[in-house]
Amino acid sequence: MMLSYQQAREKVIAAVSAGLNPPPAEVADLAGALGRVLGEEVTADRDYPPFPRSTRDGYAVRAADISKVPATLKRLGEVKAGEAFPGSVGAGECVQIMTGAPVPSGADAVVMVEDTELKGDQVTVRKSLIVGANVVPRGSEAAGGAVLLKPGARIGYVEMSLLGQVGKSTVQVYRRPRVAVLSTGDEVVAVGLTPGPNQIRNSNAYSMAAQVVQWGGEAVVLGNARDELGELERFIRRGLEEDLLVLTGGVSAGKYDLVEVVLRQLGAEFHFDAVAIRPGRPAVFASCQGKFVFGLPGNPVSTMVTFELFVAPALALLGGAPAPPLQFLKARLAEAVPQKTKLTLFLPARLEGQGSKVTVRALPWHGSGDVVALAHANCTLVVPDNVSELVAGAWVDVLPRRG
Ligand code: AMP
Ligand code: MG
Repeated sequence: MMLSYQQAREKVIAAVSAGLNPPPAEVADLAGALGRVLGEEVTADRDYPPFPRSTRDGYAVRAADISKVPATLKRLGEVKAGEAFPGSVGAGECVQIMTGAPVPSGADAVVMVEDTELKGDQVTVRKSLIVGANVVPRGSEAAGGAVLLKPGARIGYVEMSLLGQVGKSTVQVYRRPRVAVLSTGDEVVAVGLTPGPNQIRNSNAYSMAAQVVQWGGEAVVLGNARDELGELERFIRRGLEEDLLVLTGGVSAGKYDLVEVVLRQLGAEFHFDAVAIRPGRPAVFASCQGKFVFGLPGNPVSTMVTFELFVAPALALLGGAPAPPLQFLKARLAEAVPQKTKLTLFLPARLEGQGSKVTVRALPWHGSGDVVALAHANCTLVVPDNVSELVAGAWVDVLPRRG
């Protein structure tokens, strides 16, 4: 029986996870660490916040002094961000304070300037507060030494901020997995060349390399192998020198689809060689000479869809990150979509509208070679195998496009 795409993903994750060691780590400048995978545990270098921090411009007060309002307090002075007030706030007293400044000792709340009136050194407060109002206590976000980020975290802009906050101007990151990218096919010519009337340009080399980079790998583009046993074997052997080999074309049932033949000759063990999806049905996943190999169908839309479904989790794991969960969004379907197959369909589609008024529409397309249609799409509509139709207005599963 053919695997479902969920089963195929599980196979990939299980096979790649088995006996997996974290990749070697290397040092990166923080400024260049976006998208890398953290290779060390990052802890708080001190308490956060390092002092009780005011979240408002106003007056640091003792809450007990303003339990009955209006209340008039004596202004002792002021404290701005970056400084400390030298004294202490006693009964009937207050200190003017700016957002981000340390709350002076003795005070336990900050009243907003909008709720006060200043005359000379007398501050009239018009609003009562509970203890702790508008103050973030020292160490409440993180105590010094607390673990903030773990190895395997993908560094996005929030992680950049946190790493900056704790002073990591350089950071240990995992080495990117090197991914051999190989296309196959007698009809395929390099993008810089003028194709003959029946030839096509090697667009897959570019989409695959881009997806490799997006998932944290380094693409090693090998070029194109003709549909010929000897040449295919040479290219595949070369690809097996890298951490992962991803190739396209030559995995269907045609007379010149020789990838599986060559892999078998090289001793490959096949984890799957078909998945119940369209596009992408002939996708292959194998182990060969200690490396993993993906054989993706050559039609560009199939290549891209199967990369996202099956190669992405392998690449994430090889890079020291967890396998990304496949997370669908729900959107209302604008127009009915028929389902005439027993395969799960991954259709080019468009999310339209804004906010909570989002609908999704399958786009007209001419099958898995139609990159023109794909360029109009911004997501993939998932049509399950067990329905005969998705009706207009139904909540359906959508996979937004990354990048
Ligand atoms: P295959 O999976 O080898 O049967 O290829 C199916 C179709 O995908 C071919 O007929 C081409 O139209 C297209 N194709 C194959 N390789 C590439 C490539 N590297 N770049 C763009 N399209 C390709
Ligand atoms: Mg081919």
